[in-house]
Amino acid sequence: MKKIAELYRGKAKTVYSTEDSNFLILEFRNDTSAFDGQRIEQLERKGAVNNKFNYFIMTKLKDAGIPTQIERLLSDNEVLVKKLDMIPVECVVRNRAAGSLVRRLGVEEGLILIPPTFELFLKNDSLHDPMVNEYHCESFGWATNKQLNRMKELSFSINTILTKMFGNAGLILVDYKLEFGLFNGEVVLGDEFSPDGCRLWEKQTLKKMDKDRFRQGLGGVIEAYEDVAHRIGVPL
Ligand code: ADP
Ligand code: UDP
Repeated sequence: MKKIAELYRGKAKTVYSTEDSNFLILEFRNDTSAFDGQRIEQLERKGAVNNKFNYFIMTKLKDAGIPTQIERLLSDNEVLVKKLDMIPVECVVRNRAAGSLVRRLGVEEGLILIPPTFELFLKNDSLHDPMVNEYHCESFGWATNKQLNRMKELSFSINTILTKMFGNAGLILVDYKLEFGLFNGEVVLGDEFSPDGCRLWEKQTLKKMDKDRFRQGLGGVIEAYEDVAHRIGVPL
C-alpha cells in the first residue's frame, strides 16, 4: 500500500491517504511536543521507536479481543491502519495520581487510585484540551451515550491487559490516553499507544520512563523508551 496524499500533519505524526479509502498510513516523526505544542524538539529515533512500540501494543490488544485500527507495519516509521472517523475526545485512565490530576486536585503524585479513574478531554490545542464530561460529549454531538459506554468499557479492559503486561516487566502503568474512532459504526481504538501518551514508572525506583522525562527536562528520553520496549519484548 502506497502513500497518495498528505491529509494531515499533526504534532507527532503525519497522516496519508492510500489507494484504498478504508486505510491510512500513519508516519511517526521524531518531533516531540509538550505543553499543547508550545515546545517542540526533534529526538533521534523517536519516530521508529514509537511506531514499533505502538504496533506491538496494538497487536497485543487486538489478540486480546480489543478492536483496533492496526493492519500492518510498513517500515520503521510507517504503519497501515484502518481509517477511522475520529471521536474528538481523549480518554484518560489513571491508576495513580500524576500530571494534571495532581495540579487540579492538589493530591500527592503517586497516590494509588482505587478504583482507577476515567476522564474525558476535548481534543483542542487552542483551548488546551479542556476536561469535559459525558453530557458535553452528548450535547455537542461528539459521541453518543452508547459510544461513550463502549469507550469506557474498552479503556478499562485495556487497563487490565496493559497493567499486567507492564507489571510483569517491572513497570507501573500510572496513566494513559486513548483515542477512539468509528469504523463501519463500531468503536475502534485509534491513534497511538506509546510512552508519549502514557506514564510508566520503574517499580523499584519509581524512575520515570515516559514523556515526563521530556516535559520535565530529565534527559535520556529515548533511552528510557527503548528500555521499556526491550523489557516488554518490542523488536526494535
Ligand atoms: P495531534 O493531532 O494531536 O497533533 P498526531 O501528530 O498524533 O496528533 O496526529 C495524528 C492525527 O491522526 C490525530 O489527529 C489523530 O486523531 C488522527 N488519527 C489517528 N489514528 C487515526 C485513524 N486510524 N484514522 C483517522 N485518523 C486518525
Ligand atoms: N496525554 C496525552 N496527550 C494529551 C494529554 C495527555 O497523551 O494531549 C497523556 C499523558 O501523557 C498522560 C495522560 O494522558 O499519560 C494524562 O495526562 P494529564 O491529564 O496528566 O496531562 P499532562 O499533565 O500530562 O499534560
